[in-house]
Amino acid sequence: MDFELTREQKAIRDEMFAVCADLGQNAPVELTGAPEDKWLTDEGWEYNKYCWKEIAKRGWISIDWPVEYGGQGRSRIYKTFLSEAMGYNRISHDAGMCVVAPTLLTFGTEEQKHRFLPLIASGDTHWCQLWSEPEAGSDLANVTTRGVKEGDYYIINGQKTWTTGGHRADWGFMIFRTDPNAKPKHRGLSYILVDMKSPGITVSPLPQMNFKHGYNDVFFDDVRVPSENLIGKENDGWKVTRGAMNSERSGLGVLAKLQRYLDVLVRYCNETEANGKRLSEDPIIRNRLAEIACDLAASKALSYRIIWLQDAGGVGAFEASAIKIRSSEIYMSISYLGNEIMGPYGQVKDSRWSPLQGIFEDEYQSNMALAMAAGTNEIQRNIIAWERLGLPRMR
Ligand SMILES: Cc1cc2nc3c(=O)[nH]c(=O)nc-3n(C[C@H](O)[C@H](O)[C@H](O)COP(=O)(O)OP(=O)(O)OC[C@H]3O[C@@H](n4cnc5c(N)ncnc54)[C@H](O)[C@@H]3O)c2cc1C
Repeated sequence: MDFELTREQKAIRDEMFAVCADLGQNAPVELTGAPEDKWLTDEGWEYNKYCWKEIAKRGWISIDWPVEYGGQGRSRIYKTFLSEAMGYNRISHDAGMCVVAPTLLTFGTEEQKHRFLPLIASGDTHWCQLWSEPEAGSDLANVTTRGVKEGDYYIINGQKTWTTGGHRADWGFMIFRTDPNAKPKHRGLSYILVDMKSPGITVSPLPQMNFKHGYNDVFFDDVRVPSENLIGKENDGWKVTRGAMNSERSGLGVLAKLQRYLDVLVRYCNETEANGKRLSEDPIIRNRLAEIACDLAASKALSYRIIWLQDAGGVGAFEASAIKIRSSEIYMSISYLGNEIMGPYGQVKDSRWSPLQGIFEDEYQSNMALAMAAGTNEIQRNIIAWERLGLPRMR
């Protein structure tokens, strides 16, 4: 097995890392890299928009799209290098690039591709995911937000919840019910792109325990959405949703961010003394850091396997679920370890006493998000039990 990159791959990857590292130098101080940070302040949001424009300018958002849609026709591995470079340098991803574009390329009409893909490639539009509802999370087919066709529009009523970045997004990609009597219930769902400025949409913050605002409830009150925005056929939205779930599954962006945290912690332990000794000489700390290094290395190998499988024609549910579980668990381990190493100082925020600008204090309160978002780890384990181990399917 040969894991070496070609000379061209290596050159482009290096360039992506250099550009993102340069952009990362200008990140606002409060932007730690926690998932919700980019939406938190106007400054953070403007900074991320600036980064996306710079990345778009180089043609990297569309690097793996076919040439006829403005891409470079390269393999998926190049997009993964970009995810890695952005993740390591704390530049957030946008759902347009990661989810909407691959969904359009697979399920969109020619008209839809030519209309929406250029907006995504230019870094000009920002997207949110309108899937979950108060009674539809793990059981997503339970969606009740209702759309009734009236002429060339769907009139949509209902509530979405947990909408990450809904207060900043220009567009949303939504699953909604078009047939309330369908059995099984996933057969009555459709998938549509929604302009978030449409009259009748109300976005309301879901406050977090760390007082940040990344997530929202989104209410639909007689919202008119053009039926030309429907992706796939009416009542066939489940297929599109599943396709969208499969879009970016390597997890390499998250792992790259965690690699940065490990590098930061190692540096901190080398530079900080307690009881007359450097922290890096403490056998327990060394042990714990080494464990995380092992976990990260194994997970990165699995990520690269996922990309290889995707390029070879489709990623298995086992690999995608396994990387989701592992990356979220490493995320928790490293956030907890950072706080343990720093002791009481780890809990101090916005002070000259808070080590490393409070990154680990912040992550301590945010890290569990990944274990829930995009399908909880319990659900991922169920999938593995069923798909990989052949255990009975749980509904
Ligand atoms: C940080 C964050 C960001 C999110 N962003 C978005 C977003 O942008 N857009 C969006 O649409 N949604 C978003 N979500 C919602 C997310 O997809 C749901 O929270 C998730 O699917 C779980 O659904 P739920 O919250 O309704 O929990 P439930 O489905 O009610 O689950 C509650 C608990 O029961 C467990 N459970 C449920 N069913 C089973 C089962 N069959 N077997 C074993 N255990 C089970 C779950 O694992 C969980 O621990 C986000 C969530 C989080 C936490």
